[in-house]
Amino acid sequence: MKVAVFSTKAYDRQFLSTANSPTQHDLVFFEPRLNRDTAILAANFPAVCVFVHDQVDAPTLELLASRGTRLVVLRCAGFNNVDLQAAADLGITVVRVPAYSPYGVAEHAVGLILTLNRKIHRAYNRVREGNFSLDGLLGFNLHERTVGIVGTGKIGLILGQIMKGFGCNLLAYDVYRNPELEALGGKYVELPELFANSDIISLHCPLTPETHHLINSEAIEQIKPGVMLINTSRGALIDTQAVIEGLKSGKIGHLGVDVYEQESELFFEDLSGEIIQDDIFQRLTTFPNVLITGHQAFFTAEALHNIAETTFANISDVEEGRTCANEIRA
Ligand code: NAD
Repeated sequence: MKVAVFSTKAYDRQFLSTANSPTQHDLVFFEPRLNRDTAILAANFPAVCVFVHDQVDAPTLELLASRGTRLVVLRCAGFNNVDLQAAADLGITVVRVPAYSPYGVAEHAVGLILTLNRKIHRAYNRVREGNFSLDGLLGFNLHERTVGIVGTGKIGLILGQIMKGFGCNLLAYDVYRNPELEALGGKYVELPELFANSDIISLHCPLTPETHHLINSEAIEQIKPGVMLINTSRGALIDTQAVIEGLKSGKIGHLGVDVYEQESELFFEDLSGEIIQDDIFQRLTTFPNVLITGHQAFFTAEALHNIAETTFANISDVEEGRTCANEIRA
């Protein structure tokens, strides 16, 4: 199938081209993101392939549909950037890669926890400058601390397994209980109880209208003072301004995020020579107890390989009229 592949970097092109060898789809790589302005690039392509920052909203879908596109192929799991109802109304099929790096994301969340706790990001710089003072580097044992996991699907469960290995107690909140998490000794509680009793809170639920700004000023009131908050899921789970206030007051002791509500203006690009206009983001970077990575939790060789393989299997399923297990509907 002829596929317009948007938001591609050199690493995407490398992994996608390799995985496409057996399937031989006709790929045309575009560096820009898909949105209303760039949709014209996909004219006469029956399929478009997109990632997390492409804007697959109703106007974009209408433009795509009017020029022959019938398939939107997501190279990611989250689909909050796609208007599924508009796609259904226009007869456009949407498929995704539901799991490509659950270990990678959970391991990255653990990396944020360990780095923030033991201040490894600060120690790295100090030692390079010949400063071997330990002042300000005091951490805490993870053993017997309580980790609250919000969203206990694939990634949340793996995080639970890893943290159990550190000897942590697990609290969990999800709209569905995961028996595997319970088998680890994880205890499902309501959110206020999780907020009040967790030393570390890690977010692993999808971004939906219900979870938008799940961590807001009301939630911050309920949390244990000095909590470590980790978000590797989607930026808008957190009300960043409220979290900044929580950091300033000391209610939040550490913040580790791989995602940020306005990240599409920043992440995946080298802006080191530019003046960043986002004052909220810039304020976040000034805290010594905040660690930000630019949506790299998924970024392992295994993940890029899995994304590419599943992407082409999805396209082939649709092209050959098979039921695609990874289709998503409104
Ligand atoms: P998953 O579907 O396996 O698990 C999500 C869990 O969240 C499910 O158990 C679901 O029941 C639960 N959930 C849904 N609504 C909820 C609510 N209102 N409150 C609490 N829980 C709720 O997904 P996953 O593979 O574990 O991925 C989790 C999230 O991680 C994705 O939605 C995506 O946004 C994010 N993600 C980030 C990266 C990254 O690179 N940073 C990579 C992949 C996925």
